[in-house]
Parts: sequence; C-alpha cells; structure tokens
Amino acid sequence: MNFSTPVSQIQNIGPVYQKRLEKLKVKTAGDLLFHFPYRYEDFSKRTSVSSIFHEGRYTVTGEVSAISSGRTAYRRLSYSRATVKDSTGEIKVVWFNQPYLSKAIKKGEKILISGKVIRTKEGLQFVNPFYEKFEKESSLRNKIVPIYPETGGVSSKWLSFIIKSVLEKIKMKETLPQEIVEKNKLYSFPKALQEIHLPSSLASAKKAQKRISFERVFLLQASLLIQKIFLSQQKGVPVPSQVEKIQDLVSGLPFQLTQAQKKAAWQILKDMEKETPMNRLLEGDVGSGKTIVAVIAVLAVIKAGYQATLMAPTEVLARQHFDEIAKLLWRFKIDVGLLTGKKDKLRSKKLKGDTVEISKEKLIEKTKKGELSFLIGTHALIQDKVKFKNLALVILDEQHRFGVKQRAKLCLKESSGIPHLLSMTATPIPRTLALTLYGDLSLSVIDEMPEERKPIITKLVPPKKRDEAYSFIRKEIKEGRQAFFICPRIEEAANKENSVWGNLKSVEEEKEHLAKEIFPEFKIEMLHGKMKSAEKEKIMKDFKNKKTDILVSTSVVEVGVDIRNAGIMVIEGAEMFGLAQLHQFRGRVGRGDFQSYCFLFASSWSEKIKKRLEALLSSKSGFDLAEKDLELRGPGDFFGKRQWGIPDFTMDALRDRSLVEKARESAKEILLKDSQLKNHPSLKKRVDSIRQNLHLE
Ligand code: ADP
Ligand code: MG
Repeated sequence: MNFSTPVSQIQNIGPVYQKRLEKLKVKTAGDLLFHFPYRYEDFSKRTSVSSIFHEGRYTVTGEVSAISSGRTAYRRLSYSRATVKDSTGEIKVVWFNQPYLSKAIKKGEKILISGKVIRTKEGLQFVNPFYEKFEKESSLRNKIVPIYPETGGVSSKWLSFIIKSVLEKIKMKETLPQEIVEKNKLYSFPKALQEIHLPSSLASAKKAQKRISFERVFLLQASLLIQKIFLSQQKGVPVPSQVEKIQDLVSGLPFQLTQAQKKAAWQILKDMEKETPMNRLLEGDVGSGKTIVAVIAVLAVIKAGYQATLMAPTEVLARQHFDEIAKLLWRFKIDVGLLTGKKDKLRSKKLKGDTVEISKEKLIEKTKKGELSFLIGTHALIQDKVKFKNLALVILDEQHRFGVKQRAKLCLKESSGIPHLLSMTATPIPRTLALTLYGDLSLSVIDEMPEERKPIITKLVPPKKRDEAYSFIRKEIKEGRQAFFICPRIEEAANKENSVWGNLKSVEEEKEHLAKEIFPEFKIEMLHGKMKSAEKEKIMKDFKNKKTDILVSTSVVEVGVDIRNAGIMVIEGAEMFGLAQLHQFRGRVGRGDFQSYCFLFASSWSEKIKKRLEALLSSKSGFDLAEKDLELRGPGDFFGKRQWGIPDFTMDALRDRSLVEKARESAKEILLKDSQLKNHPSLKKRVDSIRQNLHLE
C-alpha cells in the first residue's frame, strides 16, 4: 500500500464507506493519513466511581453490570443505558440516539468511560460519553485517543480503526531533505504521522503536528524564494520617474497628500525605475486614498511612453475609476479606455476629454497598436485577444478579489518585458503573515487617513429602536445627505419558513418597503449584481448626482465605491457579514466633511451576535477588526483559500513566528546550495505545484 492506493482497495472499507469518505474528500490511503484528529482525549487520569460527587468531566474504568435500551417518554428519543461498576461503587451511563450500543456492549465486559457527568433526577450520570472496551487494564494505560470530526456518517472510532490499519501497512519515505530534519530536530515523516494518529503522549502528538506544519511552511517559503529568484532574473521595464509631471498632478488636487500616501508613491516610483519587475502590495484601510497613489504610478509610466492597465473586481468600480481617473489624467492629454465586456468606452484627447462609446474591437485594436495608453476594466481584460504594445504597469484594485490564475495571466500579456505589478488591498494582513509572505517582497502601507475625516458614528439598532433610527435618517436626508441600505439578498426567499435566509431582507423587498411605508417622500433606487450594466451605470450616476436619496443595494457596493455626499450606511442582516466586510461597507460613508453614521440591524439578536458586532463600535481600523475576525472565526475563514491559495492548515502554522523563521532559514539554506533543487527532484515537484497556485506570479 502507498499514498495513492485508492480507499476501495483498503480492507474493511466497503462501497458505503467509500461514498461517505468521498464526501470528506478522502479518496486515497494518503488522504486518510492526512485526515487529522481535531483534538485528543487524555484518558490517563482516572477517577474512582465513589469519588465523583460533582458534575464535570471524568474517566472511569469498570465492568458493565447492566445494559438496556428504550425510548424516553417525552419526545420518544431512543437511548441505551448502562451501569458501570468499579471496586468502589456504581455509576449510570446514558447514550441518546445510539440504541445499537445495547447490543455492542455486553454485561460483564470491561469498559473505559470518559466524558461529561451531569446531575439528573436519578443522580449523577455520564451522558453520551466516549467508551472503549478492553480486556486487560494494562492495554489502556496512559491512553491518548485521537478524536476526528464526526461528519457524513463516519465516526471517530471507525476512522481511528481504519487509520491504524493503514499505518501498519503503508510504505512511507521521508519528504524533507535529511539535513533539514536533523538540524531542526524534527520527527521523521513516518514517525510524525504515526504520532499524530496514535500518540504516545500529548507532547509527542504536538511535536508531530509541528513537524507537518514545518514542512508546509518550508514548502511555501521555498516556493516564495524560488519565485523571487525567478523574478530577479526577468527583464522588467525600467520607468524613469516623471517628477515634474507628478508634481503638476499633485498640485492640481483639491487636497494635500498624506505623508503615508507620499511615501507609498515614492516607493513605487523608485521600484519601477529598476531593471527587474516590481511586485508590490499597497495596503491601506478603506478610504485611505490608494487610488491617487496608483494614478501617480500610471502617470509616470505613460509619460515615459509605456502603457498601463488597471483591473477592478466589479463593473461598478471599474466605471467609477474610469470616470474619476480619466478626469485627473485629461489635463495630461492621456486617453483612457474602459473595457467591461458590455458597453465599452473611450475618453480621448481628440474629443477634448469627452467620453464616447466605442466598439470592443476598436478598443482592443487601439490598445494593441499602442494608441491607447491606459486601459481600465474588469475581468474582461484577461481575454486572450486583449494585447498591449508596451505594457509597463499592471494594477489590481482590491486584489484579494482576484483568483491567482487571473493575476498571472494579466502580467503575461505580450510586451517588451514583464510589467511591474501593483496590487492594492484594504484587507489587512496580520504581521506574522506579512513577514512570511512579504519579508523579501515589497509592501507599502498607507497607515494614515486624510485629516479631515471624522470618525463614523456606528450604532447597533435593536428592533424596538428601528423607528427611532428611521426618523433620524429622515432628518439627515432632509438636510441633504444620501443613504445606502445594504441587504444580504437580491430576491425574496421562495420559501420563507424553511430557509435560513427566510428572515433576511432582500434588496427588492426592502426597496418596496422603504418606498411605500417608511420614506414615501424620498427617491429610492436599487442596485444588485444581476442587473444589466446599463441599468447599473444609470443608477450609480443618478446616485452620484444626488438624483436619488436612498440606494438599496447588495454587497456590490462593498468595495471601492466612492460617493462623497453619502452620510448614512444602513446594514440589514448585519450578522451575516464578517467584521472586516462590515467595515468595508461602513467605509463607503464618512468621506465628506460632515458627520456620517452607520446603523447595524440584525435579523436575530443573540448575545453572541451582539458581542461580535460590538467590535465595530470600539475598534476603528480594519487592522483591528481583521485581528478580531481572526480571533473569532479562525484564520481559515478569514483569509480563505480563495484569497491566497494557501490551505487553512498552513495558514494556522503561519501564526507561529519562530516556526516560520526556522522554516524560512532552512529553505534559504537549501536553495543557496541548489537554487534549482536539482538534487531534490521530489521536493522540486511539490514546490512547483505550490508556486503555480500562489498569487505572486
Ligand atoms: P481607497 O483607499 O479606499 O481606495 P480612495 O482612493 O477611493 O480610497 O479615496 C477615497 C476618497 O478620499 C476619494 O474621494 C479621494 O479623492 C479622497 N482622498 C484621497 N486622498 C486624500 C487626501 N490626502 N485628503 C483628502 N481626501 C483624499
Ligand atoms: Mg479603492
């Protein structure tokens, strides 16, 4: 048996279990061994039955003196019950919904019981405990039992049994270079898997997991380093900084750049002067002013005679960039195109800065010939037929929204060298992770907000205060403000009763409701992703031009949308969103010099929901909230595979600073001796497959 042996060829796994395992994405013996326990039970501390006086968690061993099954009078739940006796006394045990246990466990058998003891009418009882039958007490001594997540009809006990049998038969080889294993005093690969599933002690299980984490971080580090070496050998497009032009642009702005913006712009300009392609992430909270920094880079590139492109994750945002950036660049007689897949546009100097519609073919043609120097767009930019003549800069706005392959494709558009890459994001990356991913790469942070910004007053609104909130909003709108209402869904739920979404407001319903019953005096429109582009465009335009007072929308306005006069953000079903996402919504207001407000309505108000949402009241920066999300929801949820192409398990490991540093040092050591990994072919294969999925290509 080896790692790729299909589960169908493993003893004791029949067709039913094959199906169940498949649902857990377990198809091979290797998958089984990488199906890790999520915790361990430590049965080494035993209690004698007579010394249990209080509720709590206990482990006892004894003999089964009675066993039976039945159903409860109330709700007819099935149960199995037993009495277990040791030399000091007896205790009752009950398992609900497991009637078969009364057959599996026999009177007179020796058994270990471990779990919660609860006080019931009949005295203290074990309820739904773990059990294990044994013949000799000695076979149980100091036992640490792995507990696997029980899903899809696969029990932890069964998995334990199967995995044990696989471990006995499978052939395994060391997967890391031997010198690394020795130097870092790691368990060998086979030993690590053995100890994860059949630990000799909790400490040993921990050491085993550390070995696996180390390996993953090592692979990630090695792939990053190889990537760095690769990029440094590529020919880039050096762009001389156009200091005068940039000063001209900056002095024409209606505001002063913040120090942080200046610093970021300077770092980018310096980077682009180099022979090697830039790969820089520009990180800054919502509203910190990343766009203008990007425009500075664009101006430098175009004035040096090259082309630039900017990709945005939504049509609404691409169009906004087109409108705003084209306005700024017009003074420099720069043509700007908009490619979104449906209605394409051009703003050209021949037309004195006016915007015209243009066919997609023409737009693509102009770009290819180099007649158009700046093309803004959505994913439509990735199509093969979009080509550039001399592309020197690729900008990705809200880069976490893009898949890894898309990024790679944009950068490989035919041109004289590999273009510089500037990714922008408002998603903050915790420090440990930034160190890991960008320690050797470039990161610019805008850690300062434009001065005039007033903090947004945020309120959680319980149901009975809803009307009060509406009156307040009415007053604000009458004073000239505009409001966003965000809803979690587009349409009404088909079946309200049965759907989790049943209670959640939809954009359509909410618009009707607000227009008819709450704010009949105001002009209300709606926006969601399924609308036609022309429609979306008109609605955004009307909102921007203050023709509409209230815009009811889905999360399409989450990223990037910039409406200065909007002062109210209302979020319905706030409990459905992550904190960082709520912070993004909130960032849509508070851009003018008036006081702005954010109201959070939830469709259910548990203590837990309230507590989570309260984080929005106290911490103001996206960084704090991201840390909080990390704490409450875990790294997997927060970053997501989608975002970085890094599996959750590695993500967890990345939080261990010293492990990360050791793995990084080790990767450097190996690559210093053998930069192509010629002496480590199997390692090379694994590193290459990681590289292909990382976003840094
Ligand atoms: P984000 O970083 O979220 O992408 P934007 O670039 O959209 O933010 O900027 C938000 C708003 O702030 C825009 O209206 C922009 O013109 C304005 N802005 C940018 N920099 C400054 C500044 N230094 N002072 C005042 N306003 C600024
Ligand atoms: Mg933005």
